[in-house]
Amino acid sequence: MDRSADAAGIPSPAPSAVTEQDALRALATWRRRPGVPAARLEALVHHEHLAPALLQERARHRLMGVLDHARSTCDHWRAVLPGTPDRHDPLAGVPILDRDTVRSEAAALTATHRPAPDAEARWATSAPHAGPPVRVLQTARSVQMVPLLLHRAVRWAGWRPTGTLAAIVSPARLPPHADTSRGHSLPVWPALGRTFHTGPFVALRHDAPVDEQLAWLRTHRPDHLLAHPRVLQALVWAAGGPPADSLSGVRAAGATPTAGEHRRIEAGFGRPPVSTHSLDEIGIVGIRCAAGRWHAAVEHVHVEFLDDDAKPVAPGAPGRVAVTSLTNPAMPLFRYDTGDVATPCAPDDPCPCGRTLPSYRSLRRHQDLFARTPPGTRDRIECLDAALAKLPLRHLTSLRGVALHQLASGAFDLWLACTDPLPHAATTALRAAWDALGEGPALQVRTAETLPRTLGLPWPWFRSSTLHGPPPTP
Ligand SMILES: [Zn+2]
Repeated sequence: MDRSADAAGIPSPAPSAVTEQDALRALATWRRRPGVPAARLEALVHHEHLAPALLQERARHRLMGVLDHARSTCDHWRAVLPGTPDRHDPLAGVPILDRDTVRSEAAALTATHRPAPDAEARWATSAPHAGPPVRVLQTARSVQMVPLLLHRAVRWAGWRPTGTLAAIVSPARLPPHADTSRGHSLPVWPALGRTFHTGPFVALRHDAPVDEQLAWLRTHRPDHLLAHPRVLQALVWAAGGPPADSLSGVRAAGATPTAGEHRRIEAGFGRPPVSTHSLDEIGIVGIRCAAGRWHAAVEHVHVEFLDDDAKPVAPGAPGRVAVTSLTNPAMPLFRYDTGDVATPCAPDDPCPCGRTLPSYRSLRRHQDLFARTPPGTRDRIECLDAALAKLPLRHLTSLRGVALHQLASGAFDLWLACTDPLPHAATTALRAAWDALGEGPALQVRTAETLPRTLGLPWPWFRSSTLHGPPPTP
């Protein structure tokens, strides 16, 4: 068993190790569309099982090429990069690139020219909950890495390509003519259907009442479901267990689940959700495996874990996650500060899942935002997140949503949206977890039929007056 236990305090189950032959057999169940080269997909499988030393050598080689390009095409990098990169450690001496610099230096970070195959590019903007927006010019080839890596994620989870994929998504993601009650359908999966022959796709608005969502799932009987972690956990609570017996795979979309959300979704659906560590302005950085580690998307980015002096931390120590884009000659970014913190695993500490891609654990998203909140804020959030994950599902069947609000005074309101009051034992357990952290800010538990709209939930399930503005009105 992997030695890690997530922040909810529950160890991940031991997966069986996958070999390259197993992975190629799984890939063969995905029938490619005409014109899609087999070699490109097989290369991804191959990378998953390469010796770590060989992966590191390849990364150094690619970094040298990207550094050359950046120095010759970007004013910013011409001024900032050290004289001649060390072939054995190409990023040594390169400072961490903070988001403010990307905002203020966008023109100097944009390449004056790029190779002809990368002529097409578009601007991508960071997610609203990740702080002030950052815009990055991305080539079409870089953007196309997203479906390729998503395919890796669902292949690892054993998804069946001929199955029906259901999505419960924001109305903005659906065509305007989509029927509000019955949803929307397509003959193939939207992202992967361009590369593979897939089964059909059905979608419903996420603001449909949860009972309607459950009835819709039970009518369509999809094999796979994707939705925001908050939607997935509300389905579990409302169903009091698996939301539909047809489901054999579930993917968390739109946000990386918190540790507690991950456990609640896993407990309810009977399998862990497919999760990616992604940034809208970069793409996919890592994919969570069944052993609970994150594996870096080495084809797309070079991932490092740095201290404040831009020096790599030792394996087992937490570091700032900094990414270097390998596929984006339009706006090459080196050591871009994701705002996230994670702990790298040693290259000689193989992951129980059998993949050799560089791995990390204990991922804490958006840690940079917490620098502006009172000390201990994140510990308080995580203690409630973990306590909720430990409550038995039978105590939560009336729960529809959870949100935590930190008031300007430093006190917290825990909002529980319920159809009926939660059992006393449940609220007592939440308060006991809070008190177990010792003396600190006050916690008030508030219940309502729905979460206050003004809460807005800019961060997965937490709002702070310091970060996000005035308190909500009930
Ligand atoms: Zn793994």
